[in-house]
Amino acid sequence: DVSLRLSGLSKTYLAGTPGEVQVLRGADLELRAGETVALVAPSGAGKSTLLHIAGLLDTPDTGTVEIGGQDMTGKGDRRRTATRRSDVGFVYQFHHLLPEFTALENITLPQLANGVTEREARARAQDLLGRVGVANRADHRPAAMSGGEQQRVAFCRALANKPRVLLADEPTGNLDPATSDQVFAALVDLVSGTGLSALIATHNMELAARMDRMLRLDGGMLIED
Ligand code: ADP
Ligand code: ADP
Repeated sequence: DVSLRLSGLSKTYLAGTPGEVQVLRGADLELRAGETVALVAPSGAGKSTLLHIAGLLDTPDTGTVEIGGQDMTGKGDRRRTATRRSDVGFVYQFHHLLPEFTALENITLPQLANGVTEREARARAQDLLGRVGVANRADHRPAAMSGGEQQRVAFCRALANKPRVLLADEPTGNLDPATSDQVFAALVDLVSGTGLSALIATHNMELAARMDRMLRLDGGMLIED
């Protein structure tokens, strides 16, 4: 059962200009259901480009993206947005929580937009917050939380609509090393407990080693480590 399949992805920016940069040259990936995979690469290697293409925020020049067995090649914006909303969760270095809403509301809002009842949405949000150890922050706004707590809430929001695939771009990159370690462990635990597949970009080899597999993005291709 494959959650995400990337086949022969290529991507060049500013093609035909002096600034041309070929970021991906035949990147392949098979992410099986429930699997956690680390994506390791130096800055500028193309991790964000790869994650954006995998999450249907960008399109490759050539190659295919399949999510849950559905080939997204040539699908229109409406279909891509629908698949992204139902099947993909994103986490970034910065939390991007809505500042005027509480932690709980930040996790219920995407569910309400998806047609889940208020009662169910709140129950799921509370459960998720409990799993990452911040149940006591449910009624706090982001500004009243620490950086680590904000990221934990962002993980919960990414999982709010039970996506098939979680894509994370340096999810603990903004935190100090000690906090980073704990928050990363919370993310891996959360993902493992839900049977979700995750592709998590990180610079930290120790954190990467805790995942099922490690891939390097090298010369525009994904290489099993
Ligand atoms: P990473 O996430 O690994 O740091 P990126 O995917 O952000 O790498 O970028 C890979 C390369 O592509 C970098 O050289 C970057 O400057 C370039 N790049 C990224 N986005 C664009 C863009 N929209 N236009 C032109 N060049 C870009
Ligand atoms: P919305 O309409 O609520 O913004 P989208 O379907 O556009 O929802 O986005 C789904 C997910 O993709 C969200 O997690 C959002 O944060 C992320 N996202 C949307 N646009 C971008 C973008 N340009 N760059 C990075 N992430 C994005």
